Amino acid sequence: MTFTILNYIDGQWKASAHGATKESINPAKRSEVVGLVQNSTKSDLDAAVAAAKLAQTAWRKLSGSARGDYLYKVANIMEQRLSAIAETMTREMGKTLPEAKGETARGVALLRYYAGEGMRKVGDVIPSSDSSALMFTTRVPIGVIGVITPWNFPVAIPIWKIAPALIYGNTVVFKPATEAAVTAAKVIECFSEAGFPAGVLNFITGNGSVVGQGIADHPDIHGITFTGSDKVGKQIGISALQRGAKYQLEMGGKNPVIVAADADLEQALQATISGAFRSTGQKCTATSRVLVHRDIYEIFKQQLIERTRQLKIGNGLQEDVWMGPCASEAQMQTVLSYIEQGIREGASLVYGGRSLTEGELAEGYYIEPAIFDQVKPSMTLAREEIFGPVIAMIPFESMEEALKLANDSEFGLSASIFTKNIGNMLEFIRDMEAGLVRINAESAGVELQAPFGGMKLSSSHSREQGQAAIEFFTAIKTVFVKS
Ligand code: NDP
Repeated sequence: MTFTILNYIDGQWKASAHGATKESINPAKRSEVVGLVQNSTKSDLDAAVAAAKLAQTAWRKLSGSARGDYLYKVANIMEQRLSAIAETMTREMGKTLPEAKGETARGVALLRYYAGEGMRKVGDVIPSSDSSALMFTTRVPIGVIGVITPWNFPVAIPIWKIAPALIYGNTVVFKPATEAAVTAAKVIECFSEAGFPAGVLNFITGNGSVVGQGIADHPDIHGITFTGSDKVGKQIGISALQRGAKYQLEMGGKNPVIVAADADLEQALQATISGAFRSTGQKCTATSRVLVHRDIYEIFKQQLIERTRQLKIGNGLQEDVWMGPCASEAQMQTVLSYIEQGIREGASLVYGGRSLTEGELAEGYYIEPAIFDQVKPSMTLAREEIFGPVIAMIPFESMEEALKLANDSEFGLSASIFTKNIGNMLEFIRDMEAGLVRINAESAGVELQAPFGGMKLSSSHSREQGQAAIEFFTAIKTVFVKS
């Protein structure tokens, strides 16, 4: 029997008023329906927002530590269910089981981190020019927060938005990506069983154009935090701006790695493969442009091809599989069309790029990792986010040229350099236009206690995670007290 996911509104699991559902498919085995999710309407969204609005007053009045206790409970429940949640994630969006377990463990750690935030300081005392007055700042929640998330990190991204929203006293209406809504529901079950007051956290599935856009336009939603494509993000930003709502957008990347002539080749190769192909390249921080010094270009390319050839591709539930399928048929077709376009534009495909249909791979949306050589900075392969396992290799001759190439992008999320030269490192830290710069480490990856976000088109310029999250989820109130 197919498993049906309900919305969670005002503390109750409910079907959409219209009763329509959508299928969520296993990308490793397209005949398997992982679950049916509600195809919700505007009236369902109105009910969720009304519940969040009603719950806000009592929730904001709780102490930070009391709110934190709820998050600690969610963390404990989720920790006990880690394997089951991870398995659902692998079945629903394809990443390998170890990666899915790692992501779920990160979700648990995020919950504990933000639970602790309920006990930390929220303001500063500022000396008043009036000696008989006390002046200080405090922070207040902004109200009801709309959370809209993508499918590629269906546990970690919702939690790194929902947990800080709640700890600082906001209530939440959460719409996950349809492709990963069953996994998201497993996360919400942990919240519901932790005994949160009704209406504090509401979960509603449905089309982006209906529920997502409905959140962006809703007059009772005071802040929207979105992670996804730059196309949808821009639209959400415009809608929020028009009605004066606060918004936070984390979008795409076209992340470069620079391999200098003095790099530790072993380290650079491992990090490039992991950064580009883990999660089938479907990370906003995935490595997609590989800039290599001419002196080591050929040897690096040959070794990259050799190692990529050894990666085992298959169903992420199988133990020895290193890379799973694309998350959906649409995603696979997008990646294949970028590969065709790369060839048409004259880049040289030196490895992979085929759709894989041998044996049981025929049941899913599998492609071989692709490596393109001699990519020109003007080519589509070097400019657009592909969100798949595709590397564009570009040679360079000087550090100045490498940085110019690396910065030649409308995105600015993450970037790496491999070098032993401290001068190169410092130049890279200073001049690289990216929110996350990593030295001798892969482009993908950020620790949860550190700020995360991009520059240029990658972000609306705010930051998520760590203590930086307080900036979006609260407003500063300046207080002046005189006896
Ligand atoms: P989309 O932008 O297509 O979707 C993201 C979310 O927005 C989904 O929940 C989607 O719902 C919803 N949505 C779709 N249309 C609208 C709309 N008109 N109004 C409001 N909401 C809408 O992105 P993907 O899910 O395809 O995710 C991939 C993208 O996410 C990549 O570009 C990637 O770079 C980016 N990303 C960025 C990260 C970062 O931190 N910078 C991290 C991870 C991913 P539905 O699923 O129902 O369509």
